[in-house]
Amino acid sequence: MKKTKYLLLPLAFVLLQSCAANLSYSGSPFKKSYESITSDELKTHLYIVASDEMEGRDTGSEGQKKAGRYLIEQYQKMGVSHPKSMSSYYQVIPKEALNGRRGNLPESENILAFIEGTEKPEEVIVISAHYDHVGMSKGEIYNGADDDGSGTVALLEIAEAFQKAKKSGKGPKRSILFLHVTGEEHGLLGSKYYADHPVFPLANTVVDLNIDMIGRCDPGNCGKDYVYVIGSEMLSTELKKINEAANKETVNLELNYKYDDPNDKDRLYYRSDHYNFAKNGIPVAFYFDGIHEDYHKPTDTPDKIDYVALKKRTQLVFATAWELANRKDRIVVDKK
Ligand SMILES: [Zn+2]
Repeated sequence: MKKTKYLLLPLAFVLLQSCAANLSYSGSPFKKSYESITSDELKTHLYIVASDEMEGRDTGSEGQKKAGRYLIEQYQKMGVSHPKSMSSYYQVIPKEALNGRRGNLPESENILAFIEGTEKPEEVIVISAHYDHVGMSKGEIYNGADDDGSGTVALLEIAEAFQKAKKSGKGPKRSILFLHVTGEEHGLLGSKYYADHPVFPLANTVVDLNIDMIGRCDPGNCGKDYVYVIGSEMLSTELKKINEAANKETVNLELNYKYDDPNDKDRLYYRSDHYNFAKNGIPVAFYFDGIHEDYHKPTDTPDKIDYVALKKRTQLVFATAWELANRKDRIVVDKK
C-alpha cells in the first residue's frame, strides 16, 4: 500500500504539470510543423511576392493578380484547397464594393485557402494578411515587402506547417482559413467585403489573427526580439493569455502592448483588417512591427527585411493558432 502511494503521487504531479505548462504543444507533430517555418522559405516567397514584377500590387492591378496567382500555386503545391463551398480560391469583389478613399477601383479578389478541422470543422480560426499594396507612382514601384508582403508569406508558411501536421495524422481540430485580403490600403475593403459576405458564418468564427508588417523594426525597438500585439484582450481575456503562453513556450519575444489601446493616438486597433472582425464581436490579435522609415515608400524592399525576426513572429502566430485550433473549448467572448 505505502509503496504504491509513493509511486502514484509523483506521477500525478508530472501529469498535472505537463497539462498546465504545455497546452497542446507536447509531441512531435507540433515541433516538426513549427520547425518547418524557416527564414529561407519566407525569403524565397517574399522576393517573389514583393518583386518589381508585381508592380506594387495595387488593388485590382495585373501586378496584384500575378502575386495572387503565385499564392494559389503555393497552396496547390502543398495540397491545401479552397473552402468546399467555393469553386476556386477567389472571392471576387465587384468594383461597386471597392469605392475606396483613393477613388474607384477595378474588380479585385480575396484569396481563401482552407484546412478543414478534424473534430470541430464548423469552428473556424481565421489567419489574415492583406496582399495588396499601393502600386506605383511617378515611375517608382512601391514593393511593400514589409507592408504586407511579410504577412502574406507568413500565411504560406503557417499553412504549410498545419498541412504537414495534417499529413502526419495530427491536423487541427478546428478549421483554419487562410484569408489573403485585397483593398486594405484603400480602406480595409477586402476584409469588409469578407465580413459582409462571410464564407463561414461569423457566429462560428472563433478568432482572427491578423498579420500586417512583421519583417522590420521601428526606431525604438531595433536590436530587440519583439512584436507589437494589438487587441488581444479587447474581446476575450483568454486570447491574450493563450498568445502569451504560446510565446513563452516557443520564441519568447518581448510582446509590446504600447498600441494596444483603442484610444491610442495612432489608432492602430482600427487600422488593419482585424477590425472588420472585431467590430462583429470576433476576438482578434493584430501582429505588427511598428512604423519605420520605409513605411509606404518605394524603399520598402525585400532586402531590408530581417528574416530571422520574420520567422520568429510567424512561428508565434502559428503556435497561437495551434492552441486555438486544438484546445478543448473554443475561447469565449467575455468583454464588449
Ligand atoms: Zn498593411
